[in-house]
Amino acid sequence: MAPPILSDESDYQQSDTYINNVPLPGVQYMWQVTVNEEQCKGCNECVDGCPGEVYELLKNKATPVNSEECHGCFTCVELCEEDAITVEDK
Ligand code: SF4
Ligand code: SF4
Repeated sequence: MAPPILSDESDYQQSDTYINNVPLPGVQYMWQVTVNEEQCKGCNECVDGCPGEVYELLKNKATPVNSEECHGCFTCVELCEEDAITVEDK
């Protein structure tokens, strides 16, 4: 199943493939997670806040080491005060 095309968080929460920001079992989804290293200040907020444990802090930069676990909740984007994170559906 292709990932849903979602334009904003309200669409996301209304999607029939997600309930309360959690994807339904068996739903295939693919998200591209990118961190701008120059903007990242290594505050660890995204590392701690990501429910998918997508990030590790490597050399004081958030690094998406488990992008396949991303389910597009945008928590990290909201937490990052440096606007260093981009999450896009592939
Ligand atoms: S929240 Fe932003 S600034 Fe903080 S570690 Fe993550 S990407 Fe870097
Ligand atoms: S969108 Fe959600 S699951 Fe994906 S990396 Fe950000 S916090 Fe983690």
